[in-house]
Amino acid sequence: MSDLQGGCLCGKVRYTVSADPVFSGVCHCKNCQKGTGSAFSVVMAVPSSGVAVTGTLTSYVGKGDSGKDITKRFCPNCGSPISSEAALMPGVTMIEVGTLDDPSAAKPTMHIYCRSKMDWMPIPEGVGTFPTMPMPG
Ligand SMILES: [Zn+2]
Ligand SMILES: [Zn+2]
Repeated sequence: MSDLQGGCLCGKVRYTVSADPVFSGVCHCKNCQKGTGSAFSVVMAVPSSGVAVTGTLTSYVGKGDSGKDITKRFCPNCGSPISSEAALMPGVTMIEVGTLDDPSAAKPTMHIYCRSKMDWMPIPEGVGTFPTMPMPG
């Protein structure tokens, strides 16, 4: 895969992703709803070693719906959420797909935390759905 570029709304933060995604999914958890101000977040998970950021991100550490720490990173100037890291998935960075210059690079294959999905939001055919997280193992 060729490198992906992205950045925040104001342009002060830019990033390059040079690693293949681990997965891409839609998260309907309360944490994502609050953190994005939207109904869900769409993320592309990539190895953290493959993400290079220019500019300064501010971070906020909170508890995800799993009860484990989630570090959310956002632009301090325009507030765009850029990425997050979950203590449950060490070494993986979740990129907020809406900040990619070409968001079509991400093809979400699963919807997680559907238990808190907003009622009016339909789930497309052919994707995996999980009430919370698909637990490895
Ligand atoms: Zn910004
Ligand atoms: Zn979430």
